[in-house]
Amino acid sequence: MRFLVSNDDGVLAPGLAALAEALETLGQVTVVAPDSERSAFSNALTLDRPLRPVQQGNGFWAVNGTPADCVHLALNGLLDFEPDIVVSGINAGANLGDDTLYSGTVAAALEARFLGKTSIAVSLAGAHGRGYGIDAYRAAAVLVVRLIENWRHLQLPNRTILNVNVPDLPPEDIRGFRVARLGHRGRAKDVLKLEDPRGRSAYWIGIAGEPADAGEGTDFRAISEGYVSVTPLQTDLTRHDALQDVARWLKDV
Ligand code: MN
Repeated sequence: MRFLVSNDDGVLAPGLAALAEALETLGQVTVVAPDSERSAFSNALTLDRPLRPVQQGNGFWAVNGTPADCVHLALNGLLDFEPDIVVSGINAGANLGDDTLYSGTVAAALEARFLGKTSIAVSLAGAHGRGYGIDAYRAAAVLVVRLIENWRHLQLPNRTILNVNVPDLPPEDIRGFRVARLGHRGRAKDVLKLEDPRGRSAYWIGIAGEPADAGEGTDFRAISEGYVSVTPLQTDLTRHDALQDVARWLKDV
């Protein structure tokens, strides 16, 4: 089995190293990742300048671009083989509910799906990604290996990725896998107002809102109860149950 691995925390991130190391037990792993952190870059592609992949001493490719750039580049010209599966992560911090719209980790998996590949996004869910050690990522990577070992038994519709969040708990306290729908977050925290060294106002975007829908069946609930949440994602944002109302309204516009 051949794997392409990417992330949004950058080529030096411990979550990336742990994931690559674990997948090597299943096959050949190629890593193409941003040269520095690109969290919350969503599906951005870099169009205004060329991208220059540089292979590191450990064989990982570092790209001066976004997560989606890395996967796009890897699958459309950089690599001379077709990976069987693309895995993105392991992200430092949860990608639950509405986070998935901003997440570079999820975007790398989505970019792979746009290019016809099976893909999985993996995140370590805890307190804003602080204080994770390599062991936490290694424990999460073992669970990713279990999912992939069982992949052939999964019937997944085309154009679907899996978004996986692993609770930041000792392995023995993780209660298992649970399929989950996305929950929702409430309004983000206020921006932090700063003054720069020259006395001008500046603002720093704050942290995401608290879960607003963390009810039964959500990914937030699964994580809070100690389960690995597994959510199939699609990219069709159409609100299908509003099509008729809008059509009726348009008749008189
Ligand atoms: Mn990240």
